[in-house]
Amino acid sequence: MLKFWYKEFPQFPQENPDYWRARLIQHALLIGTVFFSLLALINLFYFHAYSLALLDSVGFCLTLAIYAWFRRSANVNLAAWAFALLATALVSWFVIMVEGRSHSLMWATLIPPFTFFLLGRQWGSVLSAIVFSVCALVVYQQVQTQVAVTFTVGSLLNVIEVAIAHLLIFRFYERSRSTAYQHLAGKTEQIRKLAETDSLTGLHNREKLDRELEQIFTDALQHEDGFSLMLLDLDHFKQINDQFGHLEGDKVLAELSDSLRTHMRQQDLLARWGGEEFVVVLPKTGIDNAAELAERLRSRIAATSIHGHHLTISIGVAQYQAGDTIPLLLERTDQALYEAKHKGRNRVVVR
Ligand code: GH3
Ligand code: MG
Ligand code: MG
Repeated sequence: MLKFWYKEFPQFPQENPDYWRARLIQHALLIGTVFFSLLALINLFYFHAYSLALLDSVGFCLTLAIYAWFRRSANVNLAAWAFALLATALVSWFVIMVEGRSHSLMWATLIPPFTFFLLGRQWGSVLSAIVFSVCALVVYQQVQTQVAVTFTVGSLLNVIEVAIAHLLIFRFYERSRSTAYQHLAGKTEQIRKLAETDSLTGLHNREKLDRELEQIFTDALQHEDGFSLMLLDLDHFKQINDQFGHLEGDKVLAELSDSLRTHMRQQDLLARWGGEEFVVVLPKTGIDNAAELAERLRSRIAATSIHGHHLTISIGVAQYQAGDTIPLLLERTDQALYEAKHKGRNRVVVR
């Protein structure tokens, strides 16, 4: 039944700001329909207050009419206005009719949550101010006549009904707020991942590498943890582009990246430095160990077919030394790579 009441509008997917407004309107209209029908029955059969029963019946019919029209038109703005005005008018009318007796003024406290959520700050303030002014005026008149406040069964019902309506509206509001927050948090995480990922290879990009290097340098200074760096470059990669085209070159880079990733240890950070060059940060790894890892990587790539091509890589390796800066260490690793190329490629040089 509830599922039927809450219609999903394809034009308002969950990312659309009107998604939650459309749900709020249907929620408000459901509360309105149930309340007006119950109030009409109570006023008719229990209190025999026929004018109030008529008022509630009018509210019930108009709420249902707005609901039926909203389902067809999906006009969020007009439906929000229609229900906000209806609630404001009926509550004001009710308070005036019963002259504020039997704690009927409590109903006015429902106007801000409905009108603020439906219409926003500006109109929420205006409509709330109107209803509260009506209440103040009614109470002012009562003050002149010095009528004693009495507690009746009507008071009890008014307090209970208003409390239930508040609970229903605030439960809905908190649910929509937390769902929207989770949705946003998910999107932020997606964007953060995209911002540190190279789109072709799916590896970490240069920005992420720079940040990680800063962190690992700080750790190295504070805890005297050694670490090493590899700079890795594909040999004669230009020939692949020249012979098979740039798209084929892209596929080779992507597949090589997958292959490199499978040969890394969990703690190592692999990033695309740019073009066909890659950097591997090896935390807590001395130079001998780093050289061994680089040699194993080189021989594995030389022995594997990458997207149908036999490729080789050259690797420069350097270790963090006391007094190093990031540019100094990178410079030493780059010189090692340059030497590996100079000595004939497909080899590892350590500095
Ligand atoms: P060497 O052994 O000296 O490294 O030779 P090389 O041909 O690999 O070196 P060079 O630096 O002359 O050429 C690198 C080539 O990598 C040139 C460029 O077209 C290609 N390249 C750089 N980035 C990309 C990319 O994203 N996609 C493709 N397909 N090619 C790229
Ligand atoms: Mg190259
Ligand atoms: Mg290069």
